[in-house]
Amino acid sequence: MAEEKTIFARIIDGEIPADIVHSDDLCIAFRDIKPQAPVHILVIPRKPIASLFDATAEDRMLLGHLMLVVRDLALQEGLEEGFRTVLNTGAGGGQEVFHLHFHLLGKRKLNWPPG
Ligand code: AMP
Repeated sequence: MAEEKTIFARIIDGEIPADIVHSDDLCIAFRDIKPQAPVHILVIPRKPIASLFDATAEDRMLLGHLMLVVRDLALQEGLEEGFRTVLNTGAGGGQEVFHLHFHLLGKRKLNWPPG
């Protein structure tokens, strides 16, 4: 049985709209529909990796690429002062969409420890 497509896979395939701010052959980035900060962008691989638990050594370069895209987008969004990157993994880590994604958050005071 084919696994159900996640909402992010549907965004990649252009089936549902998103405010896309970056696209390349390995990943796309778009604004979170329910932003938790003035800047809240999700960076996702085109490859449907469910979570960090499912990434393999083969994905090493891809994961590094995603991190550098996060950094480039942060600078593009004017976050020279700093920003936060979040990768929720598994239900216990707060993950709701099972297509690996980095959250890029900025332009507000980000407290530590996080909630
Ligand atoms: P997580 O809890 O780490 O899985 O984060 C999932 C994120 O996806 C949440 O911040 C949601 O607001 C966001 N989200 C869900 N659906 C959409 C959508 N259609 N477009 C943009 N962001 C979405």
